[in-house]
Amino acid sequence: MTHEGTAPSFHTMWRELEPIGRHSASGGYRRYAWSGADADCRAWFRAQAEARGLDYELDRNGNQWAWLGDPCAGDAVVTGSHLDSVPDGGAFDGPLGVVSSFAALDELRGRSARFTRPLAIVNFGDEEGARFGLACVGSRLAAGELTAEQARRLTDADGITLPQAMEAAGHDPDTIGADPERLARIGAFVELHVEQGRALDLSGDRVGIASAIWPHGRWRFDFRGEANHAGTTRLVDRRDPMLSYAETVLAARREAQLAGAVATFGKIAVEPNGVNAVPSLVRGWLDSRAADQSTLDTVVTGIETAAREYADAHGIRLDVVRESFTPVVEFEHTLRDEIVRILGKRDDTAASLKVPVLGTGAGHDAGILSGTIPTAMLFVRNPTGVSHSPAEYAAEDDCVAGVTALADVLEGLACS
Ligand SMILES: [Zn+2]
Repeated sequence: MTHEGTAPSFHTMWRELEPIGRHSASGGYRRYAWSGADADCRAWFRAQAEARGLDYELDRNGNQWAWLGDPCAGDAVVTGSHLDSVPDGGAFDGPLGVVSSFAALDELRGRSARFTRPLAIVNFGDEEGARFGLACVGSRLAAGELTAEQARRLTDADGITLPQAMEAAGHDPDTIGADPERLARIGAFVELHVEQGRALDLSGDRVGIASAIWPHGRWRFDFRGEANHAGTTRLVDRRDPMLSYAETVLAARREAQLAGAVATFGKIAVEPNGVNAVPSLVRGWLDSRAADQSTLDTVVTGIETAAREYADAHGIRLDVVRESFTPVVEFEHTLRDEIVRILGKRDDTAASLKVPVLGTGAGHDAGILSGTIPTAMLFVRNPTGVSHSPAEYAAEDDCVAGVTALADVLEGLACS
């Protein structure tokens, strides 16, 4: 079978993938791990691998691999991303990286590139964690960051456990767990991803290189006051935790703005949650991220200090609990510098191809794997900056520029 010229182009692949798991009313994607839509995406991936004569593998943790060359030879260059989505997610977060990987391979074959290292394209399972509440399950399991025991306890909103969901989708859950032998084959992993912000749009560049993933955490703020009648309780007699919460939300915005960080109260629970009742409890969840640890510490400490002042002033009890924390992920400098050098070469001829290096506040499989293998990321411009929403967008020209950049990187790393 010959491949050059017969493999579907980026556009053809994009159109094939587009209807899978798309919700007709919202226009967003509902490609949850081990669901029917997920199975359709996986079937698509396998068909793409086989159409190109690549060796297809499904690993023990549900990650799909398409190999060109001998996987066991070692020092492989791997590219890819994920195909699952958040609830009503956009079309690009994940699939752009997978489709671009196949398209980049097509482009390299069109260039008659000679591969000196094995190449693989990967689709990591359950990256978004939309169903079981934990992101990057496929890569976490492989890297040993999530044990099989912990994974078996994950449960979705309907009470279905991860092993039950895997089994229903025809995957054996008994063999999940750390996969150091598979990861040891990999010399470099490069993930292309739609940018989840507007840095490239503001700088006027189509493609960027990731420097680091910002440290981020989640904190739960419990403001406790006294439930009372909304009609008969005089304002001066109230101990209303909603006031302290509201002032804390404003403080979060102020502290983040001062530090060049981000801070978000995006989830709230109120008791008794009645229209005509002064609340007894307001529980708000803070998500905050910053370029470095000390900035993040400053922001969160500032928010907590402000929250305590407000709470004390209103007779409110405040408890703050850190629920999760992920330290900064610095992408490996040698690989990053090599990619900067490969893509920088092109800058001599066209200033429009300049490739900036930028940080990101979003987590990725590449971040999980960076503790085990050298990883790097390319970002493609997203003019709206919106992600995890149907409004997420990348222009086709920019997607094609991303494919070319990825092909150049893979050629520089894996070809003679
Ligand atoms: Zn993603």
